[in-house]
Amino acid sequence: MKIIGTKVKCPMCKNKRLMDMISAEKAELVIKCPICKNIIHLSFNKNKIKAKAV
Ligand SMILES: [Zn+2]
Repeated sequence: MKIIGTKVKCPMCKNKRLMDMISAEKAELVIKCPICKNIIHLSFNKNKIKAKAV
């Protein structure tokens, strides 16, 4: 079984590792970037990630 690891970048700063996602069919979450303190809304759909600042 192949495990897909995806690094999620912060869209607002140079933080290239906001979090690691192993896999997600469908999920939504909100995370605060520890560097720029922006609130980032993440949505996953079949391993594609959309990240945007709220
Ligand atoms: Zn950031």
